Parts: sequence; C-alpha cells; structure tokens
Amino acid sequence: MGAPSKPLCARCDAVCCRLTVVLQPEDRIPLHLTDKTDAGLTVMARDEEGWCVAIDAAHMRCSIYDTRPGICRRFVMAGPYCREVRADYSDRNRRGIPLQLH
Ligand code: SF4
Repeated sequence: MGAPSKPLCARCDAVCCRLTVVLQPEDRIPLHLTDKTDAGLTVMARDEEGWCVAIDAAHMRCSIYDTRPGICRRFVMAGPYCREVRADYSDRNRRGIPLQLH
C-alpha cells in the first residue's frame, strides 16, 4: 500500500478555519475578532456560517496570518488532523448534511 496522497493545499477549503480556535493569553488578537464561550473561554469569533471572522473569504486565506493564534500555527497542513477534518467535511458535503461545528 502506498503513502496517502498529499492534499492539494492550493485548493484548500480552509475547513480548519471553521473549528473552534481557543485563544491563549500570549495570543494578541484584536478584541473585535474574539468571542467568549459559555464556559468562559476566549475564542476566535465565527460568522453565521461558522467561519472564523479573520478569514479573507475572497481569497480563502487568513487575514491576520502574521499574528494568527498559536493553535493555528500548530495546525499542521496535510497532517493527520488536517486530513481527518477534510475527510469529515467532504463526507458531510457528499451526504448533503450542513456543516455544524459548535
Ligand atoms: S485566525 Fe486565521 S488561521 Fe486561525 S482560524 Fe482564523 S482565519 Fe484560520
């Protein structure tokens, strides 16, 4: 069995940018881009469709890339979690189930 094919990052759907991004004290994110969960965690705010508000939807890229949160920096593109999230996203789309990650 060969190695799994590498995802085409040039066509990345930035699915990870719909996951909950918990912020740490060392993250320096403008307050208007953040939100508080019921549990009191500070997170990146998300829009009605679940996308992180920092995403530049026209180009599907992070608008605060140079100062993005630590958790986003640690997310390994094409790593196991990236592949898992992408597979789950494409499965849901194939089944026509709206994506709800809350
Ligand atoms: S801060 Fe940037 S990299 Fe992190 S989830 Fe939001 S858009 Fe994506």
